[in-house]
Amino acid sequence: MVKERIVSDFDGVWTDPQQEAVDYSAAFAEKFSQRIGIPLVELSGFMQSASEAINKSPGTFGWEYKGMIIAPATADPYVFNDTVAKETLKELGYHKDTDKLIDGLFQACYNLSKPVFREGAREYLEALHNLSNLTIVTNSDTKKVEKKLFELFGTEDHGFRVIGNAKKYVVNNRGNWNIERTTWLSGLPRPVFLRRSEYNQVLSRQGKIDKVLGDIYELDLALPEAKGIYTILIATPTTPPWEVNHYQGHPNGSAVYNLADLTEAAVGK
Ligand SMILES: [Mg+2]
Repeated sequence: MVKERIVSDFDGVWTDPQQEAVDYSAAFAEKFSQRIGIPLVELSGFMQSASEAINKSPGTFGWEYKGMIIAPATADPYVFNDTVAKETLKELGYHKDTDKLIDGLFQACYNLSKPVFREGAREYLEALHNLSNLTIVTNSDTKKVEKKLFELFGTEDHGFRVIGNAKKYVVNNRGNWNIERTTWLSGLPRPVFLRRSEYNQVLSRQGKIDKVLGDIYELDLALPEAKGIYTILIATPTTPPWEVNHYQGHPNGSAVYNLADLTEAAVGK
């Protein structure tokens, strides 16, 4: 039997980013306070208000790339912290190089993030690897994912194919596209941008793909779905409802909540 070709994202699918980023988030707030010179006790109130505003209206905030929102603010703790910082700076009337400041906070704190895997990650990742032709395609640096796989399997000889720095956030309309520029999801008051040129190149190099697995619809799944590939969303506690609802009665995809169901949806018969 020919094994299906499956592409899977890594962080958020096999790991639990909320748990991984506990120390990161604490350090992020502390460094933020130091760098803009406002005591943490004072800044926390502003950050709390920004968090509440984002959570109240998650569809209107997000990860911006060249003025386009390309993933929801609640996608993962890193995007969330960045968005909170950005909204806080707006509220404070801080207009200096905010992107540079926020990126500097991410860089300064990222190493505090520790690998925490979803329940059954080793068992189900191994099963998927054995039952399919699997490639991991991630925005993360390849080495960072390799390190996590080493942690999970206790060996560098795990045999997984990892393609890092996939830049799924890059939207570029130049060139020939046979898919629409955008799509709309019910419940999301902004478009989803489909023409992710860097990710498209990575996917195209894999040949015919049967399924793509991811935890963030916009980043991982919107493009492959538009290309006609079967997509599976594994929801996290912060996955927005419009992403899960999108998969209700979906003719070419499904949404799951845990790795047992993900593996079943990917390779179960
Ligand atoms: Mg992910």
